[in-house]
Amino acid sequence: MTDNSNVAARITAMPPVMLDGPVGSPPPGLDLRWVWQIPTGVITIETYNGAEAEINRVRLTDPSGWDGERPPVTAEDLARETTVTPVACPACGTTTGLAFRGRWGDPADLICPCGHRWPLPGGRAYAVGAMTHAIILAIAQQGLPPAAPTTGDAPEA
Ligand SMILES: [Zn+2]
Repeated sequence: MTDNSNVAARITAMPPVMLDGPVGSPPPGLDLRWVWQIPTGVITIETYNGAEAEINRVRLTDPSGWDGERPPVTAEDLARETTVTPVACPACGTTTGLAFRGRWGDPADLICPCGHRWPLPGGRAYAVGAMTHAIILAIAQQGLPPAAPTTGDAPEA
């Protein structure tokens, strides 16, 4: 039904700051009762390594550390400032086939192919932004869903 790999690529390509902002208005016509489950495949979290960044800063500002041939900080040194880690299911450990789950304005939960469910790491603001962003991408690719049925998926606590 959807090209999951394309959704994942577009989500990870978005600047992270977009996911921390306030929740915008929902797309016109969106029925807010829908609970979305949006496949994303692999989800990665980038963490900043302050110790490696400080080592690089000192190397760049200390002229005695440069031998005149090799630059004091290489691309490999810079790459160590950021660690990219795939999110793994806390129950079964899988890092693939993951999906976002939640309504517009909810913090995103993650679901693995086994059905395990847990909150998206990164804090509430990030998780809310990730859910709304995933819903916007899903609507952009598939269009608005019809009105939610009045019975069935009960509101969650
Ligand atoms: Zn699992």
